Amino acid sequence: MKFLVVGGAGYIGSHMVKHLSGAGHDVVVADNSPTRRNVRRVELDIADGRALDTLFAEYQFDAVLHFASFIEVGESVTDPGKYYQNNVAATLTLLQAMVRAGINQLIFSSSAAVYGSPQYVPIDESHPKAAINPYGRSKWMVEQILEDFDRAYGLKSVCLRYFNAAGADPDGELGECHEPETHLLPLILQAASGRRNDVTVFGRDYETPDGTCIRDYVHVADLVSAHSLAVDYLVAGGASTAFNLGNGLGFSVQQVIDAACAVTGRQIITREAPRRAGDPPRLVADASKAKAVLGWQPQFASLEKIVSHAWHWEQLHPWH
Ligand code: UDP
Repeated sequence: MKFLVVGGAGYIGSHMVKHLSGAGHDVVVADNSPTRRNVRRVELDIADGRALDTLFAEYQFDAVLHFASFIEVGESVTDPGKYYQNNVAATLTLLQAMVRAGINQLIFSSSAAVYGSPQYVPIDESHPKAAINPYGRSKWMVEQILEDFDRAYGLKSVCLRYFNAAGADPDGELGECHEPETHLLPLILQAASGRRNDVTVFGRDYETPDGTCIRDYVHVADLVSAHSLAVDYLVAGGASTAFNLGNGLGFSVQQVIDAACAVTGRQIITREAPRRAGDPPRLVADASKAKAVLGWQPQFASLEKIVSHAWHWEQLHPWH
């Protein structure tokens, strides 16, 4: 099949591109950063409808996988315009170009952030959507746009609501690297490797057993397999829908630090800080719909596996 992977040089997108090209698919990456894979990359801004028209005229893509968005919750609060512009307006331009070109299959990277502070856990897909920050609202807006685009134009989509993506390519070739880095596990491992002095714990006063926030960490390779299954689902004529992707296991910030100490055998120095704005205390997925409908079976559900793959990559690529 022919795929356009928007954001294919990013953390999850690059793992997806490796998988698709390894499976013999024809892949074009649209990203402003270089990709190390041997696939065609176009330096294209999805806010540029004409550039998209030109690309779509050249390639008859069967489907688009859209990974490109800004992802920092805190920044979305201080600079919401940036988030609505990129995550919503540019995505709308992409969708309109897809409609013009007759491309009617999309896999969209959504987020557990669409739910806001959970009213119950584990969270299933019908949980009320009450995002508590512009990042989460931007994802939910796109999901709603997609519903309308299906109704009006027949654009079929699967929205994958990631919980906390983590871990690295089991081969050690790819891993998680953001600039600046704000995510917990890479920060912990950088502290373990000595690239940072310490890791900050944002809040020990949550109503959780050890007082730190609980998240559902899901291995990037398992996210990739869910995307492949979602493509198969759409190709088989599946209706537009959304799936949660998580392991149904909640780990606290302190538990992740403890797991990293055990995996790395290193001392990890922590520093205390107040709660980070916009962080709900506990996010845990009910992913039974993805398992039942897509046949998704996470291979690396244990926190130890997630941490050890990430550590392997951190050691192989100390400079990133
Ligand atoms: N966190 C932390 N220190 C950090 C970064 C994150 O304590 O330096 C906490 C954060 O408050 C949240 C969890 O770790 O409870 C996961 O945060 P991350 O930014 O990795 O992902 P998010 O949950 O925002 O998607």
